[in-house]
Amino acid sequence: MTLIGKIVDGEWTTYQRGRNSIPAIKQFQLALRVEEKLSAERGPNNILLGQNLSDSADARAKLAQARAATDQSLSILLQAMRSQEDLWFTPLIANVKATTLNLALARQQVDLLAAKPKSERDADSVSVSVEMMVATVEIFSSTIGSLSNRVILADPQFHDGVESAQLSSRLRDIAGQVGSTFTAPVIAKRPLTPQEIYAFARLTGQADQLYSVIELELRSYYKNPAFKIALDNIRTHYFGDGVDFLNGLFAAGRTSGNYGLSSGDIAAIYVPMMSSIPELRELIVAELIQEAESRNQRAGYFLLATILLGIVAIGIFVMLIRLIRQRVLRPILDATELFVSFANERFETAIPEHLYNDEIGEMLRAIRVLKAHSLDKIRLEKEREELIKRLRASSDTDFLTGLLNRRAFYAQGEQQFGITRRYQRQMVVILMDVDHFKAVNDMHGHQAGDRVLCDVAELCRHERRKVDLLARYGGEEFLLLLPEIDLLQGIAVAEKLRAAIDAHLFQLDDGVVLKISASFGVASFEDDDNLESLIARADQKLYAAKNAGRNKVMPARQVNEFVVA
Ligand code: GH3
Ligand code: MG
Ligand code: MG
Repeated sequence: MTLIGKIVDGEWTTYQRGRNSIPAIKQFQLALRVEEKLSAERGPNNILLGQNLSDSADARAKLAQARAATDQSLSILLQAMRSQEDLWFTPLIANVKATTLNLALARQQVDLLAAKPKSERDADSVSVSVEMMVATVEIFSSTIGSLSNRVILADPQFHDGVESAQLSSRLRDIAGQVGSTFTAPVIAKRPLTPQEIYAFARLTGQADQLYSVIELELRSYYKNPAFKIALDNIRTHYFGDGVDFLNGLFAAGRTSGNYGLSSGDIAAIYVPMMSSIPELRELIVAELIQEAESRNQRAGYFLLATILLGIVAIGIFVMLIRLIRQRVLRPILDATELFVSFANERFETAIPEHLYNDEIGEMLRAIRVLKAHSLDKIRLEKEREELIKRLRASSDTDFLTGLLNRRAFYAQGEQQFGITRRYQRQMVVILMDVDHFKAVNDMHGHQAGDRVLCDVAELCRHERRKVDLLARYGGEEFLLLLPEIDLLQGIAVAEKLRAAIDAHLFQLDDGVVLKISASFGVASFEDDDNLESLIARADQKLYAAKNAGRNKVMPARQVNEFVVA
């Protein structure tokens, strides 16, 4: 955008420069025309001053015409400058006014002389009138200088053209002055004074110099044939015929002072010989205007093209950004979101479809594979955990009764026992053995025995609290570990269980109803106990209960409050 802005700004400057330079060149042209008219007015002046009052009607008419042309050119220039309403022109307008004032004085001098009989017009007065006209041009030259600078400031490329146009105008004035050198001597029919000889030499030298500078300045215009013709014309008509004519007059002026021509004759011959000079000047200015116009038009087209191209470039840029956003950034952001949800084991977000077979499509395909693999992995992990749980449960439980087996009892019992010992708490172990169980097997079969064992296990389950450990300790032996109770309470639990078994009617599959009993050994935790010693004491008591006739609870210590059944 910055680049486009800079290019458009550059083109705008070029375009503006063209727009400013065209009116500046036109004003410059108007000023050059004024200078030409001021120079040209000297011709009719010289003719008039060389004639008698009686036959000067024609010359007067010509002079009036020349003066009207000068006045018109001045007023056109003034109007052009005033219409600009630019303070920059204020000193120029003042200069034009000063020029007009000086011109009026010079004309007055001419009119004064012309009103006298020819014999009374002294040479000095004639010279003064010529010099006053020359001075008018010199006063005006500052306006030309300012206007030429304005053109060069508007567009420095016009420097050479402006300068050569200005020099051409100057050349025309100098050429006129050379001719005017002879006005006074021709009228007085006398040789040239030393001052006039000097002025002639100086002015012709200046004319030569000006021409060579003009040729140099115009070198870039040589390829235009019109310029070549105009330069050739000056060389042949002015520097050829014109200078030959002047040299003839000069030779007469150096010797006899017998010129053989009136000042009117001289003007009639010499003035057309100078006409090739303003022609070149007009040609240069016309070329400048044309160049400025075409350059301005080109700059206009270029500016328009640059703006259009800029708009197209910005449009393409915006579309490209949108495309990148839509086809690259969006999918990458979506993919990032997907990765985050996968990491959190959330798979419900749908993976977006991608219409193009590019790198992003490849990435989304890979994400789809990743999702499938992740889902598989999670499913397998869940299955494995389930399996481990089941395996652990089956290794911890007794196959027949579903109670803890002996191995699991020791694992969990040790943990519980550790707490009891560390915090000096209470704990009771009840060891129970079904009485005459062999007989059940023998009489009713092994399956019936299993059935009885399951029922006994169910009765034990019913009696135990949540914190108690219940295990099948051996074939028809069961073990209860009761934390946080004392021996007395433990005896009560055993007694309750004994009574429950004793009272229970065991229903066998073949309809037989069986009654059985069980014997109990009860021991409570004492200092220096370990789990084995505690169980061993309960086992001793169980043995004692068997010996005491079975269907009994035998505590490790005698407890007075409790009456054993
Ligand atoms: P006591 O009153 O002295 O304890 O006599 P008892 O018959 O109960 O004791 P004994 O040790 O002589 O017999 C136990 C029997 O329990 C022997 C065995 O066949 C049986 N038994 C052990 N485990 C199982 C089992 O899982 N199922 C069945 N049906 N019987 C079992
Ligand atoms: Mg038994
Ligand atoms: Mg036994």
